[in-house]
Amino acid sequence: MGRCRVSALTTIEAPFDRLLGESPEEFLENLPGSAWLVIPGSGPGRPRALTTLLHGNEPSGFRAVHRWLKNGGRPAVDLHVCLASVEAARTAPFFTWRARRGGRDLNRCFKEPFEGYEGELAGSILERLNDLKPEALIDLHNTSGSGPAFSLASRVDAAHERLSSFFTLRMVRLRTELGTIMEATVASFPTLTVECGGVPDAESEETAFRGFKAFAEAPAPLRPEDTGPVELLESPIQVKLKPGLSLIYGDRSAEGIDLTLREDIDRLNYGVTAAGTEIGWIDRESLDFLDALIPEGSPPLSGMLRVRDGTLETARPLRFLLATTRADIGVSDCLFYLIASL
Ligand SMILES: [Zn+2]
Repeated sequence: MGRCRVSALTTIEAPFDRLLGESPEEFLENLPGSAWLVIPGSGPGRPRALTTLLHGNEPSGFRAVHRWLKNGGRPAVDLHVCLASVEAARTAPFFTWRARRGGRDLNRCFKEPFEGYEGELAGSILERLNDLKPEALIDLHNTSGSGPAFSLASRVDAAHERLSSFFTLRMVRLRTELGTIMEATVASFPTLTVECGGVPDAESEETAFRGFKAFAEAPAPLRPEDTGPVELLESPIQVKLKPGLSLIYGDRSAEGIDLTLREDIDRLNYGVTAAGTEIGWIDRESLDFLDALIPEGSPPLSGMLRVRDGTLETARPLRFLLATTRADIGVSDCLFYLIASL
């Protein structure tokens, strides 16, 4: 495992012809590993950058890149596309694993120290971006549960709203320090993370394709435009299960399992969920099985969720974001994010 060094981050210049194959899966197989694709623009201007597949189980961005290249897409300015966790994505079955087996979540490694396979890969991606100084960086993801598209920005201004408008008018301001690529680059150039919608949702791929095409082909320079009203949600809190506890998804509590979340919890993503909505079952009467990362100004977790007779429920109207129904992701990353609603 430790033998794969990051020199495997290959630069590949257009044309890509045979590399693309007939399908995204063939394209994935043909890649030498993590790669930068360089596509010359039809005109002058600062280059633009796109990263995708930071998570191997989130394929919409990768599929969009493949489709656009197959269609002979030509960017307005030089475009640099990073296909990041190629090894994770092509561990069978394809597009199932968030990270390499035994590896770390790449989108938590964009901070010192840049060590180990994922740390070196993240460091190498950042080095390239800092040399490139792109006009903007878009980072394409999917939510692992179902749900609509939205963007995540740690800075909200006209440039970021414009970037979001290529994909979605729903924006969430994220105040985290998790080691994401966005946190590492936003001070140097506009950076937007786009959750193109859920992996299981058919429209996610269309959102990714339309947005990517518009971003790549928009005349230089990118200008703030009248984008229509952006809906901005502020500072969600991240909710995690405490280490060592067990999680399943189901429709009732289960013997010997610490937390059961309802199996359709991803249906609550983004929309407002009423107070008193049942979301799971727990074998204790307090919230001390959960950890929360609370940004300044957010209400505490106890104002958001409560436990009653072994049932976990919402304590006030709130929105869920990024709720997954995959226990491996729920345990290793987080259960969901919450935003208090009126
Ligand atoms: Zn992701």
